[in-house]
Amino acid sequence: MRAIVTDGKENVWEEQRPRPSPSNGEVLIKIRAVGICGSDIGLIHGEGPPWTNYPLVPGHEVCAEVVELGDDVDSLSVGDRVALHGFIYCSTCTACREGRYYQCDDLKEIGFTLDGGYREYATVPAYTLNPVPESLSDSEVTQVDSAACTLHALQRVQTSFTDTAAVLGPGSLGLFGVQLLAAQGVENIILTGTRDERLTVGETYGANLTVNVRETDPVTRIKEYTNGAGVDICVEAAGGGDVLNTCLEVATQQGDVVLTGVFDDRKAIDPNDIVAKELTVIGGVTAAHATDQVMELFQRGDLSVDGIVTHEFSLEEYERALETVLNREDGVIKAILRP
Ligand SMILES: [Zn+2]
Ligand SMILES: [Zn+2]
Repeated sequence: MRAIVTDGKENVWEEQRPRPSPSNGEVLIKIRAVGICGSDIGLIHGEGPPWTNYPLVPGHEVCAEVVELGDDVDSLSVGDRVALHGFIYCSTCTACREGRYYQCDDLKEIGFTLDGGYREYATVPAYTLNPVPESLSDSEVTQVDSAACTLHALQRVQTSFTDTAAVLGPGSLGLFGVQLLAAQGVENIILTGTRDERLTVGETYGANLTVNVRETDPVTRIKEYTNGAGVDICVEAAGGGDVLNTCLEVATQQGDVVLTGVFDDRKAIDPNDIVAKELTVIGGVTAAHATDQVMELFQRGDLSVDGIVTHEFSLEEYERALETVLNREDGVIKAILRP
């Protein structure tokens, strides 16, 4: 079978590998589609999380089909279409015992520590797979886990229908953020970014105001829109640039700042913004309960990937696919590979 591998030194190549067979508790899956995440591009450049292991097959946004069961697997059947939630954990450390398995002392993650989905077949523990409803498209299934990251983070703050929220960054996470805020009944949603075509997608999902930060200072515009008060909730979904400071500046007194983007370097902030305004700053990773809810929201039509999953490539076209995402060519927001 084909597998796409990186060494974290900007090299990416194709390898032929034997098709693996499932051990106890594992299943063999055929990858149907895998999203190219911004963090995959980071991995190729050696900027993975601390639990990254090279050489590595990237890919954690996986939609697959179960083709063979290992011994002792009774939660899945051959033919099930599944979404990957690729966290592998010990079940015994404090975090695991408190239900925060994604913060396990011995955390391993498929697509980071262990080979991921840029290949035709994979064997993974059965517990990392969730069967998905028939009505979800393969593209939607690849995005269940990403959307769940945003939902899990948003569920750590209280939202109300009278709130004004800003989402900074109109990539896939930010566009899921707009939809989730709208689904939670938040009435005023502001979306900021650098690309008009992405901002326009945000408008179709309920953003009342969009700000192109290349043309307009977002802090001034957001303050003006909120009569000087700032926003109740500010969602950081860009993971770069100066958005962290923008968040702290546009948040209202006692507002919430929700961080969902992954940063590849340290950022300087003015802590007095947090102190003086009594802000609450929260981060969010992901959680299984959120993936269940995301599937429900996709089914209901409250969540969609229309205009978000913009490109599809075969696995053989991985070089063109990665370049398209890296250079943000051709209006790409999210590209998926079809092994
Ligand atoms: Zn991702
Ligand atoms: Zn643990």
